[in-house]
Amino acid sequence: MAARRDVDVADLIERARAADARAVARLITLVENDSPVLREIAAVFAPLAGRAHVVGLTGSPGVGKSTSTSALVFALRALGQRVGVLAVDPSSPFSGGALLGDRVRMQDHATDDHVFIRSLASRGQLGGLSAAVPQALRVLDAAGCDTVLIETVGVGQAEVEIASLADTTLVLLAPGMGDGIQAAKAGILEIADIFVVNKADRDGADQVSRDLRHMLSLGGRHEHTNAWRPPIVKTVASRNEGVADVLAAIDKHWTWMQGHGELGRRRRARAASEIEAIALGQVRARFADVHGSAALDAAAARVVEGATDPFTAAQELVDTL
Ligand code: GDP
Repeated sequence: MAARRDVDVADLIERARAADARAVARLITLVENDSPVLREIAAVFAPLAGRAHVVGLTGSPGVGKSTSTSALVFALRALGQRVGVLAVDPSSPFSGGALLGDRVRMQDHATDDHVFIRSLASRGQLGGLSAAVPQALRVLDAAGCDTVLIETVGVGQAEVEIASLADTTLVLLAPGMGDGIQAAKAGILEIADIFVVNKADRDGADQVSRDLRHMLSLGGRHEHTNAWRPPIVKTVASRNEGVADVLAAIDKHWTWMQGHGELGRRRRARAASEIEAIALGQVRARFADVHGSAALDAAAARVVEGATDPFTAAQELVDTL
């Protein structure tokens, strides 16, 4: 971890605000490595946050997230936007772009100064991804990104969790992946603001859309008349088809959220879990600082001997924090 004096924070911040890609990358590395200078950076960025529209893409591996992300970046760039991409791999201990290096399509944007692409892993991060992602978002926000796409790379429950860090969540499905929507991971359909049925060039795409529509018509989630009804958009991401429709749906959702107070609600929920993650991380660190392993070992020995019970022992340690 870089010592404090090795980082010229003011210079980094100034360069990041001027959209210098190296400074942006460096700041995200500091986030990832849980650098002690993060506090200072977060304080400077606080008033700058909240401009970017954060769009999450989630779905099973192979459904076309990477292809769609790349297609969306091209489309947003064509509109003159500055775009950030965070490829988040909650299951990987590696980071720093290694994974992203394999994601060939992103190299299409490698020479574009207005596209910032980074992978993010939870290595060493106090509070894990629920703290790291919002902090990385702030960096991209401060660097003037209009839209930030968060793409999940790993597999698992995190596909659902990561989506909760976005303002708008795209759930991608595709025909020929297991058994259509039945194969979709539990919980993933509920988080969709927009359904994207990708690989519409393949047989079965219409069936996936029909199944989705059927499911949505049954769902109790949208009974309020002014509730958002997730649209279903078909795409062939590998041929850039349907991308304009996805962008239109994203825009519509953004406008709807602003009109219904939903954007603020989501962002407060995101900040709450960020604060909680940081706070719990600090409590854990303080616990280790104050008690060290010696105190814990001693308490453990007493529990094993039957001299006390684990609740009492834990309470004693907590009380002296
Ligand atoms: P990810 O794992 O969800 O990121 O999926 P990828 O974007 O890597 O795509 C997986 C595979 O599907 C790749 O071989 C893509 O070229 C292919 N693919 C992506 N979109 C489409 C599409 O619309 N139609 C077809 N036929 N193939 C696609």
